[in-house]
Amino acid sequence: MSRRSPRPAQDVTSAAAQPSDRRRALPSVDEVVRALAAEGHEEYTHVQAVRAAREALAEARHALKQPDSLDAGGAADAGAIISRARELLAEQRRPTLRPVINATGVIISTNLGRAPLAAAAIETMAAVAAGYSNLEYELRLGERGSRQAPVRNLLCALTGAEDALAVNNNAAAVMLVLAALASGKEVIVSRGELVEIGGGFRIPDVLRQSGARLIEVGTTNRTRLRDFEQALTDETAALLAVHPSNFRIVGFTEAPPLAGLAALAHDHGLPLIHDVGSGCLLATERWGLAHEPTPQESIAAGADVVCFSGDKLLGGPQAGLIAGRAALLEQIARHPLMRAVRSDKLTLAALEATLRLYRDEVAEREIPVWRMIAMPQQHIRQRAERWVAHLASAELAASAVADFSTIGGGSLPGETLPTTVCAIELPGTAADLAAERLRLGSPPVVARVSRGRLLLDPRTVHPDADDALLHALEEAIRG
Ligand SMILES: *Cc1c(COP(=O)(O)O)cnc(C)c1O
Repeated sequence: MSRRSPRPAQDVTSAAAQPSDRRRALPSVDEVVRALAAEGHEEYTHVQAVRAAREALAEARHALKQPDSLDAGGAADAGAIISRARELLAEQRRPTLRPVINATGVIISTNLGRAPLAAAAIETMAAVAAGYSNLEYELRLGERGSRQAPVRNLLCALTGAEDALAVNNNAAAVMLVLAALASGKEVIVSRGELVEIGGGFRIPDVLRQSGARLIEVGTTNRTRLRDFEQALTDETAALLAVHPSNFRIVGFTEAPPLAGLAALAHDHGLPLIHDVGSGCLLATERWGLAHEPTPQESIAAGADVVCFSGDKLLGGPQAGLIAGRAALLEQIARHPLMRAVRSDKLTLAALEATLRLYRDEVAEREIPVWRMIAMPQQHIRQRAERWVAHLASAELAASAVADFSTIGGGSLPGETLPTTVCAIELPGTAADLAAERLRLGSPPVVARVSRGRLLLDPRTVHPDADDALLHALEEAIRG
């Protein structure tokens, strides 16, 4: 990543010196380090300064080697090298993993870290992180306790399950459940649900890794209860239903209802396992969205073990949650893989705080994912118009345009929420260039580009970030 701004071309006649002369004229590493130290106020070690000086000099030498780089004269200038070294030091001090402003209007994006946490979750997590905690210590008895207890109690109350536990993510949850309940035996799944979630996470592969044997039934578009029934053998350990969360088959389709699958499983003394995906605990219809299956519905329909993510529509930290019948959960908790995938104290702290917001019925107001989904359209439009007016005052042309936000994160495919974006029309490839500059800025801003226009959706931008966003935008467009 080169953060140098383009330098004005030098007058060719006056830059008559040969590249070799100019290379000789470069400052030494020591000179650059001394110049940096003379500034006095920077916080870096001598070793870091030497490394930055070497890198800046190497870049300048490289620029001089370019046959007709008019830029080289400027880049090889001692002042430019010192300022480049200063930039490299500043970059080093910035964490590589850092906050970005999401102006894409995609609420849950795995690339951008999925769900932002609620304030209560951040506070609880910070308090637990800063010192010791009663993670596995029963304060009333002065004895060892269970790290799962707080999350278990909340999940049971919210989903109606008898027992529950948390692991690192939903992929781990599915793997652990299958390993504990079906290793060496058969698991029956519909062909229409053998999905790839993304990042190469495929249900058939996870099944194989767990040691269970996959028995596919039905067809891509239609699977009936009878298909499951005919595949049952003495080797069957469980029926598995997977919510195909990130795609939708439309048209001539059929899938057995969950309650029917549960009844079939129970008639044969088997458990029904349901990977419900996003961990959506609220009714999405309230915001004009299609119905997203919830863990509580799944439990009510008779599923014996339900798995879901903590950082999709649940709006909490990365986690995989397993809820269901006590006897099965006990078997799962005892499996050796459990130790390998157990959640840490920071996750458990954030998860408990997030689940409490559902219990207290303030999720819609307090959990960012739901706040963004529930954001009134006129609020979004007013913000987009404010952005447009701000840009106009800086003599940059933009307009507030009706558009759509999406849920993302493999939830509610094809579902959109009406929004208003700030659209900036730029000539040629200037929109792509501006989007790149926004990404490389500080803080980085991720925007959308569509048909030569730069689009910024206020829905996914925290209101506190408006000023930073507008400042970044001005810089990026002006170049
Ligand atoms: C997202 C998803 C997963 C994977 O969950 P992670 O928490 O990302 O590990 C598994 N199954 C379904 C149906 C999903 O939607």
